[in-house]
Amino acid sequence: MNMGNHAMDTMIKPQYLAGALPRKITTGVSVGGVTVGGGAPIVVQSMTNTDTADIDATVAQVAALHTAGSELVRITVDRDEAAAAVPRIRDRLARLGIDVPLIGDFHYIGHKLLADHPDCAEALAKYRINPGNVGFKEKKDRQFGQIIEMALKHDKPVRIGVNWGSLDQALLTELMDRNQDEGSPLTAIEVTREAMVQSALLSANLANELGMDNDKIILSVKVSQVQDLVAVYCALAERSNHALHLGLTEAGMGTKGIVASSAAMGILLQQGIGDTVRISLTPEPGGDRTREVQVAQELLQTMGFRSFLPIVAACPGCGRTTSTVFQELASDIQNQIRRDMPEWKKKYPGVEELKVAVMGCIVNGPGESKHADIGISLPGTGETPAAPVFIDGKKARTLRGDNIAEEFQRLVHEYVEQRYGEG
Ligand code: SF4
Repeated sequence: MNMGNHAMDTMIKPQYLAGALPRKITTGVSVGGVTVGGGAPIVVQSMTNTDTADIDATVAQVAALHTAGSELVRITVDRDEAAAAVPRIRDRLARLGIDVPLIGDFHYIGHKLLADHPDCAEALAKYRINPGNVGFKEKKDRQFGQIIEMALKHDKPVRIGVNWGSLDQALLTELMDRNQDEGSPLTAIEVTREAMVQSALLSANLANELGMDNDKIILSVKVSQVQDLVAVYCALAERSNHALHLGLTEAGMGTKGIVASSAAMGILLQQGIGDTVRISLTPEPGGDRTREVQVAQELLQTMGFRSFLPIVAACPGCGRTTSTVFQELASDIQNQIRRDMPEWKKKYPGVEELKVAVMGCIVNGPGESKHADIGISLPGTGETPAAPVFIDGKKARTLRGDNIAEEFQRLVHEYVEQRYGEG
C-alpha cells in the first residue's frame, strides 16, 4: 500500500469540520446589568452555601466567588432572618467595591418573604422561583402570581427553575394519566421529561399573562442525569425562545461532578444551547466553594466560547519521561498564572488568550509547543538534557542546566509584558 504524502480524493464535507453549531439567540434578560441571553457571552454563575442570615460568612463567600470570576451569585432566602440580611449583605459588598448581582433563591414562602421584606426584594437582582414548590393546589397559581407581582413592582427578572427533585406532581400525574389513556406512546421517563418542560413553559405563560415580558424571564429545567438534561434542554430550546440557565443538579463531588456536568453541558453548548451556566459541585468537607466557578470557566474556555485566563497545555507523560520535572513545571506555571491573573487582567488586556505548552519529550513536544504562544519541550529519558523554547511558533532558544523551570517562568513573564503590556 502506498503510504506516501498524497491527499485522499474525497474531502470530508465542510459541515463536519465547522465545530459548534451557531448559538441560539434567545430573548436577552438584564440581571442587575449583566445580560443573559440575546447573544451575550455565556455567563458564569454560582451559589453560596452559607446561612444567608450569617452576614459575615455570606459576604465573604460572595466576595470569594466573585473574585474567582462568578458574574452572578445566588443566595438562599429561606426565612425572615435571611431576607432581613440581604440588604445588609448588599451594602457590605458595595463597601468592598463588589457589585456582583445577587439572586434570591426562594422556595415555599417566597411570596411572603418578598412582600414582608421590600428592602430584600429591592436589593436582589433576580428572583428564582421553583414552580414545583411555590404552593400546592389552589395556592399554587396564586402564590406564583404574588411573586411575579413583586418582581413587576420592583422591576426585577425571574428565573423559573424547574427541578427534577421537586417537580410539580399534579402536572406529572395529569400527563401520566393522559399518556396511559392514549395507549402509552411515551415511556415513563419521557413523560417525566415532558412534565419538566411543560412545567417551565406553563409557568412562563402564566407570568406572561400576569404582565411579565419575556425579557424578564429565564428558564431552567435541572435534572441529575446527563441524558435527561440533554433531552429536556433540547426540548425547551426547540419550544421556546427564553434565555436558558444550564445546570446539572446534584452533580456530585469531585471528578464525578465535574465530568457529569461537563459532559451534559458540553453537549448542549456545542448545539448552541445555554446562556448562563452553573456547576453544582458538592465541595469536600472544608473544601473551596470557588471550585465550581473555576470548572465553569474552564468548561467555557476549553470549548472555545470564552476566555478567562491563559491555558497551559501539558502532555500526560509516559514511559519516555521518567522524571516529574515537566509535571511540576506545568503545575507551577498554571498556579503562577492563576495567582498573577488579577493583576495581569488590569495590566495586560487580552492576556486571557495566552496559550502556554509544557511538554515532556521530543515526540510531540516541539509540535505542540509551536502551536502555543510560548512552549517548552523538556528532555525525555535518554534525550540530550536540553529544553528548546518556542515562541510564536519558532524556536527561540534552548534552556539547559538546573534552572530550566525558573528560566522558563521568566520567559513567560517577559512574553506577557512584551505582547500585552502597554509599552
Ligand atoms: S510528549 Fe513525549 S512524554 Fe509527553 S506523552 Fe507524548 S511521548 Fe510521552
